Amino acid sequence: MTWVPKMPENKSLSRAKILVIEDEEAQLELIGYNLEALGFTVEKAQSGEQGLEMAIEILPDLIILDWMLPAISGIEVCRNLKAKKSTKKIPLIMLTARGEEADRIRGLETGADDYVVKPYSINELMARVRAMLRRTSPSRVGEILSHNNLLLNSSEHKVFRNEKPIKLGPVEFRLLAVLMENPKQVFTRSLLLDKVWGINCDYDYRTVDVHIARLRKSLKQKNMPNLIRTVRGTGYSLE
Ligand code: CA
Repeated sequence: MTWVPKMPENKSLSRAKILVIEDEEAQLELIGYNLEALGFTVEKAQSGEQGLEMAIEILPDLIILDWMLPAISGIEVCRNLKAKKSTKKIPLIMLTARGEEADRIRGLETGADDYVVKPYSINELMARVRAMLRRTSPSRVGEILSHNNLLLNSSEHKVFRNEKPIKLGPVEFRLLAVLMENPKQVFTRSLLLDKVWGINCDYDYRTVDVHIARLRKSLKQKNMPNLIRTVRGTGYSLE
């Protein structure tokens, strides 16, 4: 029988719901895909009118709003949302192609809580979303660790490498989480036994090696380097 360490309690965090208002379909899909990979629930609107209606109806935890929309502009949508009692407190990140100081200030003056200038990096946008949610509703962000092309969501119990889902057993999941909390740190086998299996376990070092080997196998991807380094005579580290 394999002994399985106690997982941290599933905190059953409610997922944050994020409304994305953007008329360019490819952009909308890209943002939606990345938010979902982080465990968020995503609602999409392709026009200002639709976005306004949906915001009032679903009261999302955060709104990502493109400035450049046909008909009603992002600025108008923002002004409307910030004027309504039910929606004015929803944090709003504006996407803007306008990098000029005056335009940024105009966006913030209209009530946007943050803005990201296009063309932006998707990672930067995701970082801003998480930072904003951490400030406004920290219990909804969950525990997300990322390193290199790895992403681990502990509340959802999901791991991705290069956006591809990775299936891990509970021990390997916990092992990876420990390594990802302190990348590059060399963990001795005894420290790993301690952190993953618990302080009073009487397993030997061979157990650690077996699970590290399984973890490596699961993380393996074509043409991608091995992420877990063996430090001879010492232990392991995440590179
Ligand atoms: Ca647009």
